[in-house]
Amino acid sequence: MMEQDMQEILFTREQLSARIKEIAAQISEDYRGKAPVVIGILRGSFIFMADLVRELDIPDMTLDFMSASSYGSGTVSSGLVDIKLDTSEPITGKDVILVEDILDTGNTLSRLVAELQKRNPASIRLCVMLDKPERRVKPIQADYTGFQIPDGFVVGCGLDYDQKYRQLEYIGILKPEIYE
Ligand code: 5GP
Ligand code: MG
Repeated sequence: MMEQDMQEILFTREQLSARIKEIAAQISEDYRGKAPVVIGILRGSFIFMADLVRELDIPDMTLDFMSASSYGSGTVSSGLVDIKLDTSEPITGKDVILVEDILDTGNTLSRLVAELQKRNPASIRLCVMLDKPERRVKPIQADYTGFQIPDGFVVGCGLDYDQKYRQLEYIGILKPEIYE
């Protein structure tokens, strides 16, 4: 489905779920005995978050969501980030695991982390499905990364172009002629 719009399939559902299991094992070990709040950044992280949390072995964790705007319907980050939806529960004193679809320029996550730090959580770590290190403009790194990828606009597994393609079970590079 919609494979004709892809220049290349980067990761199949099987590859994604195998890697998510590995990350989940590491996170479960790091947070053993703790009660972290896992915060998904909507909308892009929802599929990764769902897959990840079902693999975590952290009985006392809770889940929450935020959303921030960065991209509009284009493919270039504006550098301006607004918090559109805040967490339902306060994070003061909590161990926070922020879950994001992709770390690109770093604008979105640096802004969110700065905002969340003001609320005095016990800790904040970042877990991202994908990382495009070449594109970074802010000094920020993820603590847990699914896959590093080269520059190129990807969709699927939660990631959209103009709100489409999120439901794809694979991650693919979109053909440039679709957004140019
Ligand atoms: P940053 O602020 O790090 O530049 O961008 C992060 C946000 O930009 C991500 O949450 C995601 O919404 C969007 N983004 C960055 N690269 C891509 C991409 O290759 N594909 C899609 N669909 N979104 C991207
Ligand atoms: Mg996003």
